[in-house]
Amino acid sequence: MSLVTTTEMFKKAYDGGYAVGAFNVNNMEIVQGITEAAGELKSPVILQVSKGARAYANHTYLVKLVEAAVIENPEIPIALHLDHGDTFELCKSCIDGGFTSVMIDASSKSFEDNIALTKQVVEYAHDHGVVVEAELGTLAGIEDEVVVESGKEAYTRPEEVEEFVSRTGCDSLAIAIGTSHGAYKFTAAQCTRNEEGILVPPPLRFDVLEECIKRLPGFPIVLHGSSSVPQEFVKMVNEYGGNMPDAVGIPEEQLRKAATLAVCKINIDSDIRLAMTGNIRKYFAEHPDHFDPRQYLKPARQAVKDMVAHKIKYVLGSDGKA
Ligand SMILES: [Zn+2]
Repeated sequence: MSLVTTTEMFKKAYDGGYAVGAFNVNNMEIVQGITEAAGELKSPVILQVSKGARAYANHTYLVKLVEAAVIENPEIPIALHLDHGDTFELCKSCIDGGFTSVMIDASSKSFEDNIALTKQVVEYAHDHGVVVEAELGTLAGIEDEVVVESGKEAYTRPEEVEEFVSRTGCDSLAIAIGTSHGAYKFTAAQCTRNEEGILVPPPLRFDVLEECIKRLPGFPIVLHGSSSVPQEFVKMVNEYGGNMPDAVGIPEEQLRKAATLAVCKINIDSDIRLAMTGNIRKYFAEHPDHFDPRQYLKPARQAVKDMVAHKIKYVLGSDGKA
């Protein structure tokens, strides 16, 4: 199988009540960990590249790593997606350069400007057999170069979604219902604490999601910023010399519920970063004499694989759906 677009994936996910995981890739170990898990579990998967990843690893290296993963995992559909494209030129460069899907994120612009830029990308993408994700509403948090201050986020207004989708022709829509980018999704003031003293974030706005679904029947919805920041990995980081107090994410059971509804793509990045970092820190602490990068990148790659397998089975529900 060669790289695919998300069209077929999303149709099956919508009808089947599950979501496809979109995981950010930056290097070989991450690509391998994700696709080995998806391959073994017979799950479709989206590998996504941010502007920052492209700046870090270089477009060609990333595309070739993903192409290698496609060859190694011929039984599962894999899409290559641009995460948070912010200009027409960036989207065009990825469309011309082998991506099967791009996101144009003009959500910080006015409604009319968002429509105009999204439409321009959709026209070019569709002419080249590539699909487009757009965004309405603004998520809080930090993701690579996308920074939205707490308090500046805005839930998607359901009354705008039909007009936006019909005027732009986009293929999927990212909406803001309370997810957030990064490992510090909420301030302590926005949360409550459970009996163990762990922060509990405000629940996702399922009412906003339901309203969007009603207005866009059959249309794939995307959730960004959907890491759960598992406390076992925060603990591991902190135990081995890290300092990440009060990191908090979206509870997995809420994401599982969203996946059974119209949410067809769930973006997960921070959890992979955390699992890698925790395991590398642990490795260094336990093996102070080791210096071969393969020695610590091997458990890091395994941690990526275990994390993705967990998400596929218990959050996305996409195992066996390839
Ligand atoms: Zn995002």
